[in-house]
Amino acid sequence: MATHLVWLRSDLRIHDNYALHAACRDKDATVLALFIATPKQWAAHDMAPRQARFIFCSVQDVRQSLAEKGIALHTIECEDYTASVARLTEFCQQHSVDRLFYNYQYEVNERKRDAAAERALFDIDVISQGFDDSVLLPPGSVLTGNREMYKVFTPFSRAFVKRLHEGLPECVPAPAARHGAPLNDMPALRPFDYPLQDIDEEMFPVGEGKALQRLRAFCQAPVIDYPQARNAPSVNGTSRVSAYLTVGVLSPRQCLHRLLREHPHALVDSKIFSWLNELIWREFYRHLLVAFPDLCRHKPFIDWTRKVQWQQNDAHLKAWQAGKTGYPIVDAAMRHLNARGWMHNRLRMITASFLIKDLLIDWRIGERYFMTQLIDGDLASNNGGWQWAASTGTDSAPYFRIFNPTTQGERFDKDGHFIRQWLPELQDVPDKYIHQPGEWAEKKGITLDYPAPIVDHKAARRQTLDAFEAARQSQTRNIYA
Ligand code: FAD
Repeated sequence: MATHLVWLRSDLRIHDNYALHAACRDKDATVLALFIATPKQWAAHDMAPRQARFIFCSVQDVRQSLAEKGIALHTIECEDYTASVARLTEFCQQHSVDRLFYNYQYEVNERKRDAAAERALFDIDVISQGFDDSVLLPPGSVLTGNREMYKVFTPFSRAFVKRLHEGLPECVPAPAARHGAPLNDMPALRPFDYPLQDIDEEMFPVGEGKALQRLRAFCQAPVIDYPQARNAPSVNGTSRVSAYLTVGVLSPRQCLHRLLREHPHALVDSKIFSWLNELIWREFYRHLLVAFPDLCRHKPFIDWTRKVQWQQNDAHLKAWQAGKTGYPIVDAAMRHLNARGWMHNRLRMITASFLIKDLLIDWRIGERYFMTQLIDGDLASNNGGWQWAASTGTDSAPYFRIFNPTTQGERFDKDGHFIRQWLPELQDVPDKYIHQPGEWAEKKGITLDYPAPIVDHKAARRQTLDAFEAARQSQTRNIYA
């Protein structure tokens, strides 16, 4: 009788899990599952303690679901990816594994690890099979007429949708219960040796069932208002499925099929499509990561932007991190991030822009800080978002387009609902002044327990334009040197 092993990583679910489904196809095979925690590697990747906790809780949940199907999930903890390959090989030998099934991860270190694992297992006669599971369409399958990866999102999205019209990626069911199910008396899972920070369970309830409920509820009604509601941070107008997608408690195919179930015309109805288009942004950044692996090494996509002379200013960086810049929308967003481990997309754009274009601090420092805080921290989307804001990436904001943090606040949190939620010291400031509380304090002749703006936006903007212009010109000069 054959023994099949499913190596779970960022695919912590039993429904629509390609590797798990394939491993269970042979009804007579013994199926085992394995999760390997690698704390030292996670630290090197700046994984947020909240994300580590979310992973831990999700492993517990999927372990229970697998046990009900008669599949034992084993867990191993070792330092890093190199050690994980050795431990995986050992595990396969101990359990006489014949075949390994796993879902691809697309980051450089993960791909190296998987290639090493396949080689090591091949040497002990274990056949490995990988699957493109965390995407709607495999990287490399949506290309320009010249068979190249798109560098601009809109034509990518168009080509992507054309592919979806030709045929939808299939969702596969959870495995049927196997011989011996359910498995009882599972020992308690030992917490990983990594700082595990509590998560806001109201915001991110743990488990596949809860995630599916959230997806269903969002696709039934809120998705209709998404085009208007998505930009207001005080409104719960987005799906909040990012953390589930990142650790693989949900798959993007489940999102697509649920949307189509509720709105069969989602691919052509621009209102509904607007949410799907965001999922396609996620795909775009993943496809880019595979086409341009240097993105994983935090290299800017536009080469000349390497020459931008960033400022080193610890006081400014700390003020940004702590939400004490004197710009209310930036500060409320950062305090929300620090307290909850999540940030609204519009606020990610505003805070990233502020760090880069108002403080002229290297975007990689912000990218890293976000990873250390976000429950949904994902290299592809985070790098994509930061390079977009920094004007260093594919299809990013042009460097001369610089958000004004005050007018962004006025546009997207007009009455200051979100700001007041996170800046209690501005509770009494009237709506009219909520984005410039210093003006109100001056008028009233009072002192607010809130900092004055740490930079003058107009002057900062000028300085940033000069820095980018100088970098661009030095590159041009190099070409003709
Ligand atoms: P919804 O608006 O409901 O969108 C549905 C899904 O589409 C999201 O869950 C996400 O998977 C995807 N999506 C939405 N917007 C984007 C986008 N701009 N780029 C890529 N995918 C998108 N997203 C992450 O998942 N992890 C990150 O680490 C991350 N870092 C970011 C950093 C910056 C500077 C910026 C500007 C954006 C970042 N994003 C990141 C993208 C986006 O902000 C989040 O995906 C979104 O806010 C999650 O909330 P939601 O699930 O309610 O999204």
